[in-house]
Amino acid sequence: MLEVRDLSVKYGNFTALHAVSLSVQPGEIVVLLGANGAGKSTLFRTLSGLQRPAGGTATWKGTALTGGKPEFNVSHGVAQCPEGRLLFPELSVEKNLRLGAYVHRQDRAGTERGLEQVYALFPDLIAKRVAPAGSLSGGQQQMVAIGRALMARPQLLLLDEPSLGLAPLVVEQVLAAVREINAQGVSVLLAEQNAFAALSIAHRGYVLESGHITLQGPSPALLGDDRVRSAYLGV
Ligand code: ATP
Repeated sequence: MLEVRDLSVKYGNFTALHAVSLSVQPGEIVVLLGANGAGKSTLFRTLSGLQRPAGGTATWKGTALTGGKPEFNVSHGVAQCPEGRLLFPELSVEKNLRLGAYVHRQDRAGTERGLEQVYALFPDLIAKRVAPAGSLSGGQQQMVAIGRALMARPQLLLLDEPSLGLAPLVVEQVLAAVREINAQGVSVLLAEQNAFAALSIAHRGYVLESGHITLQGPSPALLGDDRVRSAYLGV
């Protein structure tokens, strides 16, 4: 499981995460709610090994994720799908997907199987195999970004704002895919501003405010919490 304890991250004198503790158990979808600038991307970047913490620990199945080597984290089962997708727009959909399998580059048969699994999950991408990723719709680009993370064969998927900028129907499609990925045995930590949709697929959630975890609980409890309802559900 993912175990984050007292994790602090600083940018110079500014503390972006203050002793954050959270966990994700095998098989869970856990949502991280928070406004712009709350620190969600900082947490994800730290769990991916892109950002070194100032204090605290983060482990996946007992292995430290904070050594500052992203490839190590990916090869130990933790893959991130970053906010803003960060695809290579000129490369084809399939080349973008193949890049996600970099840590398994010796296992060509496994990569081909992985591609077939991604196309089974996102059939819309089949007709776009050779199209430049940048020519796809926002929703399809998000599918490529999630697919690329899956090509690393993660046990834990870190999904940063997958519904950002997407139309409601497409958000539903993307979150249905997240549920399917989870049903196939992948644990998911999901950062979202789209609180209602995210809580409707997550088992549990945490609220992050200015770098502090201020609330946590099972999704139904968060959906019914007045603070969540006024801050994130607009009711
Ligand atoms: P968003 O959804 O807008 O990405 P977020 O919750 O992911 O928001 P972060 O991007 O983690 O938030 O940012 C947390 C805080 O850290 C913000 O106040 C941001 O301005 C600050 N911050 C992020 N990156 C840096 C950096 N490289 N240098 C200085 N401050 C930073």
